[in-house]
Amino acid sequence: MLMNEDFFKNRPQELCKMCGMCCKLATTAVSYEQLQREAEEGLQSAIDFLSIFHKYESYEEAYKVNPKHVENVTKTMKEVHGEDFLPEFYYCNYVNSDNTCGIYEKRPKVCKRAPASPWMIMAPECGYNDWLKEQRAKHMKYVIDLKEIVTILKDYPFDYFVKSKGKTAGQLIEEYQKIIDSYKRYGSDNW
Ligand code: SF4
Ligand code: SF4
Repeated sequence: MLMNEDFFKNRPQELCKMCGMCCKLATTAVSYEQLQREAEEGLQSAIDFLSIFHKYESYEEAYKVNPKHVENVTKTMKEVHGEDFLPEFYYCNYVNSDNTCGIYEKRPKVCKRAPASPWMIMAPECGYNDWLKEQRAKHMKYVIDLKEIVTILKDYPFDYFVKSKGKTAGQLIEEYQKIIDSYKRYGSDNW
């Protein structure tokens, strides 16, 4: 269950209520300045994001669009980055008045991928919230199970051959540990 493959394959498109909130009030895990640097360095996701999204002039301006969502995002970001952190919010000019996309056929990958992970903070009215919660629980269980398997494998010599997997205990530990580590940013150290 590698997150991206599984997540995107199973994501039910019909859950989108077309509220338009992910187009009108987006945020990123990094600052605007860092986004600009990443775009200059050629990072496609940053280039895509900045090609459609504009930064709200102020926090207050974003707050007026959806106070609850801005509060939720701010609370979560502060938990991760510290009390002084104030997230930046963005809007897209291509969203139509009926919340459809004005450049649907040409919309960048960043739009096609939203919501891009079970940990993405969506607006309270987003139709994906319950499903995302279920996905978070599934992924957490998967990581917890992997941790248990790694603990068991560590009792074996590294060159012990695990027939059912066609790999040695050492190879499996390395493989599983990489997966576990990929969830660190979501707090997997505490699961
Ligand atoms: S916030 Fe959720 S329900 Fe609203 S448009 Fe975006 S994906 Fe769809
Ligand atoms: S390009 Fe379209 S889908 Fe992407 S944020 Fe703008 S309106 Fe939404």
